Amino acid sequence: MSLDEAMANVLARAVPLQAIETVATFDADGRVLAQDLVSALQVPPNDNSSMDGYALRAADVTEPGKVLPVTQRIAAGHAGEPLEPGTCARIFTGAPMPAGADAVVMQEDTADVGGNIHGVHIQVMPQPGQWVRRAGEDVTRGAVVLARGERLSPASLGLAASLGLAHLNVVARPRVALFSTGDELVMPGEVPPEAMKPGAIYNSNRFFLRALLRRLGCEVSDLGIVPDRREATLAALKTAADHHDLILTSGGVSVGEEDHIKPAVQQLGSLDLWQIAMKPGKPFACGTVKRDAGAGPAAGQVCHFIGLPGNPVSSFVTFLLLVRPFLLRLQGVEPAALKTTTLPAHFTLNKADKRREFLRVRRNAAGGLDLFPNQSSGVLTSAVWGDGLVDNPAGSTIQRGDLVSFISFADLLA
Ligand code: AMP
Ligand code: MG
Repeated sequence: MSLDEAMANVLARAVPLQAIETVATFDADGRVLAQDLVSALQVPPNDNSSMDGYALRAADVTEPGKVLPVTQRIAAGHAGEPLEPGTCARIFTGAPMPAGADAVVMQEDTADVGGNIHGVHIQVMPQPGQWVRRAGEDVTRGAVVLARGERLSPASLGLAASLGLAHLNVVARPRVALFSTGDELVMPGEVPPEAMKPGAIYNSNRFFLRALLRRLGCEVSDLGIVPDRREATLAALKTAADHHDLILTSGGVSVGEEDHIKPAVQQLGSLDLWQIAMKPGKPFACGTVKRDAGAGPAAGQVCHFIGLPGNPVSSFVTFLLLVRPFLLRLQGVEPAALKTTTLPAHFTLNKADKRREFLRVRRNAAGGLDLFPNQSSGVLTSAVWGDGLVDNPAGSTIQRGDLVSFISFADLLA
């Protein structure tokens, strides 16, 4: 199966979650808006000064150096009186413009008159509107400021707050049950490196998968390591299905006899096992697990299942390319097409692969891409060293200087 087919197929299975919850705006970073935010007011609420200086009528300054009496003082948070013609008001940044004034002259463009006279020399010819922030120039009343399906960023939280919103309705977090399979896996902290048995390795997938899920706004139930036995796999799947939207596993989806995921998911639901024509990441499983009576109102419905390959880089890359868009759509976000940049390769790749390859590369100071020397799907160092992937079409070699298609991890992790 081609990666494009696999992507379309996985995405088509994701039906946006209906559950909505109300969270404090303070806690809504990364969450997805469940409804349009319509402004009930204009921002800023009044015309106000964008400078410390003097508010006046521009037409009153008939020549540079004109003296105007200062009749009031308006600080931010305080309203002034209507401005008499031929006078000016001392004003500070953010303070509302007094009625009648149409411009601000910044204090650097004025000079004290001196003596006991409370007036200033206006040393420039002001233009109407200068240094005035117009009411509603940021947001007009009734405007859709943020649309349903948008993921909230720190800036959008500020914008929502500027509309007076202390709470926001957001899409419920997808509930994801995560487990790793493999009898060789040991949790860091449980056995020190010098005491590891032959053949044992630390469970690394669990750490980046949990972190990736969290970044995508999921609520993660980490079920730990499930041994390579049919009964244990069945039990883990059954427990997880009732109260989760997705069960995500790593390992055990090849077709070796120690790979128990396939028969177990088939027994409890349905499973498609694909050989995706991509490197790293060939084996990939996608299906459903039925919920049983224990699921309460959700009994009889299904929980999604995705099985990632065990090799760490395969797991990482297939998560980014296939699981991430799935999880975005579950939350009602339409995932954008992969963002690619064309950059020159500062390396050669002499051996073409039959499969579409995602090479771990790094941008260099000369504006080109360097290749991590070991592209094995088990070498997680490549994913840390690299800042992105080259999407290399099947059967293609790369010569130094060739333009290649680069996908940055920053975009894939955003
Ligand atoms: P599998 O897909 O189960 O055949 O595993 C493929 C390779 O990935 C094997 O070398 C496993 O030891 C390794 N692997 C599987 N799961 C993990 C994990 N959670 N952390 C690190 N390596 C893993
Ligand atoms: Mg295994």
